[in-house]
Amino acid sequence: MNERRRTARDAAVAVVERLREAGFEALFAGGCVRDMLLDQEPQDYDVATNARPEEIRRLFPRGRLVGAQFGVVLVRRFGWDLEVATYRSDGTYSDGRRPDQVEFGSREEDAQRRDFTINGMFFDPLTEAVIDHVGGRADLDARLIRTIGAPEDRFAEDHLRMLRAVRFAARLGFDVEPPTMTAIQQHAAKLTAISAERIWSELEKILTGAARARGWRLLCEANLRPHLAPEFDWSAEVDEAIARRLEALPAEPSDAAGPLAIVLHALAPAAVHDSCRSLRINNQLRAEVAWLLGALPDGHRATELELARVKQLRAHERFDTLLRVLAADLAARSLSEDPWRTLRDRASAIPDEDVAPPPLLTGLDLQEMGIADGPVMGKLLHHLYWAQLNEAIRTRDEAIAHARRWIARSDNDTAG
Ligand code: ATP
Ligand code: MG
Repeated sequence: MNERRRTARDAAVAVVERLREAGFEALFAGGCVRDMLLDQEPQDYDVATNARPEEIRRLFPRGRLVGAQFGVVLVRRFGWDLEVATYRSDGTYSDGRRPDQVEFGSREEDAQRRDFTINGMFFDPLTEAVIDHVGGRADLDARLIRTIGAPEDRFAEDHLRMLRAVRFAARLGFDVEPPTMTAIQQHAAKLTAISAERIWSELEKILTGAARARGWRLLCEANLRPHLAPEFDWSAEVDEAIARRLEALPAEPSDAAGPLAIVLHALAPAAVHDSCRSLRINNQLRAEVAWLLGALPDGHRATELELARVKQLRAHERFDTLLRVLAADLAARSLSEDPWRTLRDRASAIPDEDVAPPPLLTGLDLQEMGIADGPVMGKLLHHLYWAQLNEAIRTRDEAIAHARRWIARSDNDTAG
C-alpha cells in the first residue's frame, strides 16, 4: 500500500499510544506543546512518561539510551527520532551547568524542573488536553517569558537559561517578565562559566532568526552582552550600531554569516579570526565572515572598483550576503544606497561565463615560453588573469604578447 508520508507528529502519537497501551502515562512535553499552542510547527516532539528507561526499552527494543543519567531514550519511528524521557526532578546543581544527579519523579516535578512556564506544559494528543502545572498558558497569552520558580535560583542553577530566555523572547516576540529580567541582569556575569560552544549555539539561534535585532537589544538590556566573549570591546554606541545594522537586514531567517559579520565588524574588526576561534565557530563560517569583512570596504567604493574585482566578488558564493550586509551598513548609517545599487548592477551585467573564465595562459604555457616555475611565474599568472578579467586581454595571442611585455619590463626593472 502506498502510505502517505508520516509526519513527526504521527510518530510521536504512535509512541504515546504504545506507552499508553502498556499502561503508562505518556504525553507530549515542553517546546512542542508551546509551539502547537502558538500554531507553529514544532521543530521536534518530545515525549514524557512515567515509564522507566528500562521499561521504555522493553517497548522499543531498538531505542537507544542517550544521556543515561538523564533517563532519555531515543526512539526511531517512521524515520523520525523522538526523545522519550522519564519524568524526573533535577536535584542540585553545583557547577551552574548541569544537575549533579537526576531522580525520577512525578509529572509535576518534571514540570517544575523545566526552565520557563511556556516550556513547562504537557499535551495529551489522544484527548487534546493541555496539562499545565506552571501557569504556562496564561504566560503564552500574555506573551511573557517567566521562569518556573524563583528566577534567581533558576539562573544560579543553570546559567545558560539566561541566553535561552533572550532567544525565546526574540524568536516569539515575547517580553521577559520584569523579575526574570532583573535576575538575569544580576547573574549575567556568570555566563563566563558556560562553555563557548554552548554560548555560540544560543547566540547563533538568536542571530539567524528574523528577530535578530531585537535579540541583540535584549542581550544588551539583560547585561549579557559584555559577557559573551572576552575579546569583544564593549560600548553602548557600538551596541547601538550593531542593532541598527541588524535591523536593516531583511527580517527573515538566514544563516549566521551576514549577521555575524555585522557583529564582528563593529566589535572586533582586527580580531575576527581570534573571536571566531574563541567562540568555537567552525572554519568555514569563520572564513566566510573574514571574506565578507575584507570585501565590505570594496562594496562601499563600488563605482571605482576595477571590473576584475567586481568579477572576483561576484564569483564568491557569499556575494549575495555581501550585498545584504552592504545595504544594511549603508541604511544604518543613513548613507545613500548608491554603492549597493552600483555593485549589484555592475555584477549582474556580467555574463555568467565571464565571471570566472578559464585562464588564457597556464603555468605550462609560460614554461614553454622559457619562464621557470617559481614566485615570478606566480606573479605573472596573477597579473595575466587580472588583465583577462579586466578584459584588457581577450585572446591567447594577446595574452602571450602581454606576458612578453611584462617579462621585458621586469627584466628592465631588475637591470635598472
Ligand atoms: P526549540 O524549539 O529551540 O527546540 P525547546 O523548548 O524544544 O525549543 P529544547 O532545548 O529542545 O528547547 O528543550 C526541550 C525542553 O526541555 C524545553 O522546552 C524545556 O522544557 C526543557 N529544557 C531545555 N533546556 C533546559 C534548561 N537549560 N533548563 C530547564 N529546562 C530545560
Ligand atoms: Mg526542542
